[in-house]
Amino acid sequence: MRAPMEREYERVVKTSPNEPLAELAACLSRLPGVGSRSAERMALKLAREPDGLLKRLAAALKSVGETVRCCTRCGSLTSAGQEPCRLCTDPGRDGAVVCVVEDPNDIPTIEKSGGFRGRYHALMGRISAMQGTGPEDLEIRKLLKRIEEEGFREVILALNTNTESDATAAMLARLLAARNVRVTRLAFGLPAGSGIAYVDPVTLERAIRGRQPLA
Ligand SMILES: [Zn+2]
Repeated sequence: MRAPMEREYERVVKTSPNEPLAELAACLSRLPGVGSRSAERMALKLAREPDGLLKRLAAALKSVGETVRCCTRCGSLTSAGQEPCRLCTDPGRDGAVVCVVEDPNDIPTIEKSGGFRGRYHALMGRISAMQGTGPEDLEIRKLLKRIEEEGFREVILALNTNTESDATAAMLARLLAARNVRVTRLAFGLPAGSGIAYVDPVTLERAIRGRQPLA
């Protein structure tokens, strides 16, 4: 049994020449976490409010398209006309260390921690058999070129903690082993303010393996 909104979408699209609505739904369905049914509901919702949400969304899309860019060097978001981005060009940052992340969204999170003041590089994903992503789909060639050109002495792998990210980290470590660069990965530890009793077994096992000497 289809939901009323879905039935309405099909009725509207089938009974009138509504290619714009179908095109809108097709575009929305390409966004992360949005399936085709959700995209159809969103498209219909927008079509119902042409003077409200639709206009605001159109203006926001135009503005983002004109003013926001991806840094051609590291992949983080920057303003039009500010390429490479400030993180790549700030002379006050440590140019000898590069922090490699999967997603550019991880960069502001690490920046907020205040624990890193070097350069960044976003891989734009991780190796994933499920999603058909291989090493050639990631920004690895660009990373190797940057290591050569910018002379990084350390590469910090700030990847996520799952089997695909582990495989990506292992592949990068193998690839970088022959180069004159130190390769490190973020420590796996206990969450701040948490007790041993509340930590899941995988985190605890990794924390034991990653223990630090105190004396
Ligand atoms: Zn940059």
